Amino acid sequence: MSKLFKNNFLTDIYGISDIIKSKDYELKDIDDISKQFTKSLGVETVSQNNKSINTIEKSVDSSIEVIDNTINTDNKSLDTSIGTIKHSSNTVEKTVVASTNDMVNKSIGVPPLQVLEALRKEIENCSKCRLSTSRTNIVFGDGNIFAKLLFIGEGPGADEDKAGLPFIGRAGQLLTKMIIAMGIKKEDVYIANIVKCRPPNNRNPFEDETAYCIPYLHKQIATINPDYIITLGSIATKYLLNTNEGISSLRGRWQSLTLNGVDKKYQVMPTFHPAYLLRSPNKKVYVWQDLQLVMKEMGLPVK
Ligand code: SF4
Repeated sequence: MSKLFKNNFLTDIYGISDIIKSKDYELKDIDDISKQFTKSLGVETVSQNNKSINTIEKSVDSSIEVIDNTINTDNKSLDTSIGTIKHSSNTVEKTVVASTNDMVNKSIGVPPLQVLEALRKEIENCSKCRLSTSRTNIVFGDGNIFAKLLFIGEGPGADEDKAGLPFIGRAGQLLTKMIIAMGIKKEDVYIANIVKCRPPNNRNPFEDETAYCIPYLHKQIATINPDYIITLGSIATKYLLNTNEGISSLRGRWQSLTLNGVDKKYQVMPTFHPAYLLRSPNKKVYVWQDLQLVMKEMGLPVK
């Protein structure tokens, strides 16, 4: 290789080297510029954005946790409510079943006469309310224990208290006439009262007295199992149907009665009490209208 060629070659080499050096310099510049550019435009913003994203993520996580807790709390409340409802439902069911079982167990397979006689003995010894202290006799009820039609009054008067039988005074005689006018015999129906002992001075029975006594009547109804019931007067209607609606508004309209443990709806016709008719004879026409509704329903000829 000639010296000239060698110098040129070296010059070329050095030249390239310079160029490379120059490029290195430029690359450093570019690197610095890039770092500055990244720093000024990118990194801090990205970092801040990352921080913001982290904050948002934490906030979202926190919200999700709150929602989860709320759902858990709601579920617990719901579970508690369901538990309470189930408990109440069970309690009511057990009470009704106990009442039903009591009534059915005592009556199942036992002839109605025996059930009623056992009930009569129970009532003869009853002292659940104050009326027990002034009675001469209990007035249990009387009539056909297989009757389709049951009459219910409010309670015994003086004559009934003495005899121990329902509706034997003047009002009772009028009731007998009403029954005969319907085309049936007195022996074909059953007659009972809301309370079995006479209230002093023929006053109306008090709420607590009827509350103590009415389960006896319910058992009589369940045992005799009539299809139709006629309530006589406001007191009998009020306590049998558990209503405060007046007799003048209820009379002449069929009502429905259901008893705990008895899978039957009794049809009830409220009408005026015979004692009221003795004082207000002009009301007899309404009672006759009510009795005719019952006759029609029973398939008896309506005159
Ligand atoms: S009225 Fe009824 S509850 Fe009261 S003592 Fe007579 S039977 Fe018992």
